[in-house]
Amino acid sequence: MSFKDVPPSHPRYQSLLMRHLIAEGGKKGIVADSGLIAHGRGEAFDYLLGEKTAPFAEKAIEAAAALILESKRPILSVNGNLAALCPDDIAEIQRVSPLGIEVNLFYRTPKRERAIFRHLKRHGVKSILGLKKSDTVRLSSMDHARRIVDKNGIAAADTVIIPLEDGDRAEALVRDGKKTVVIDLNPLSRSAVSGTVTVVDNIVRVMPLLIRKIKETAALTPSQRQEILAAYDNRAVLKEAEAAVRRHS
Ligand code: ATP
Repeated sequence: MSFKDVPPSHPRYQSLLMRHLIAEGGKKGIVADSGLIAHGRGEAFDYLLGEKTAPFAEKAIEAAAALILESKRPILSVNGNLAALCPDDIAEIQRVSPLGIEVNLFYRTPKRERAIFRHLKRHGVKSILGLKKSDTVRLSSMDHARRIVDKNGIAAADTVIIPLEDGDRAEALVRDGKKTVVIDLNPLSRSAVSGTVTVVDNIVRVMPLLIRKIKETAALTPSQRQEILAAYDNRAVLKEAEAAVRRHS
């Protein structure tokens, strides 16, 4: 049976749709093999979280929207899984927010970068950073190839949005003085723990909610946005998320 035969009324439709998008992404060269495994780990946590957005994630999304709007140069770091799962949302968030878009891969090959670039363009994403070799630099706090970033993107950013990021790289960005918005279903991952704002929820649910919150939060004054950020406690959010996982495991 192929995904085409699965009716939307199927109780696991959303989960099967994500698997389908990730598997198709793999065939098109957008998703790396390790991306398939990362998706599986995410699925397990999503199952434990009841596959829905919890109040602690809503709080974090509100803070993330305020932080994006209060930042001077916020950037969304796009990897293969995000590109495969949410290409239309990436185009929409670029339209409604000051976020720059950078393709930044853990397993970087020119072929994958090109496949992601073409895919994002087809879905309406406009200017995409991270692809011009002459604009690449290395983050000082990491010494290997995985730390290559765009000098006009992540290198110059004050805030970086990192969905499904590897822990080493997430921690390196923090060491480099960046604020980070981590979106990760595992509240125990090093990425999640290192975030300035950590949204423990599935990226496919987070993106539309974040887009809506950015639109709402844009109507507030800067001091109202600062108040949201001052009242936000990421440690408490992580504790609530971990408790939710433990309740269901
Ligand atoms: P660490 O941050 O400690 O290095 P890790 O080794 O698990 O953690 P990776 O395997 O590189 O990190 O990244 C995968 C992460 O992405 C996992 O924590 C997984 O839960 C998360 N993840 C996978 N799919 C999704 C998704 N659709 N939405 C949100 N998070 C996801």
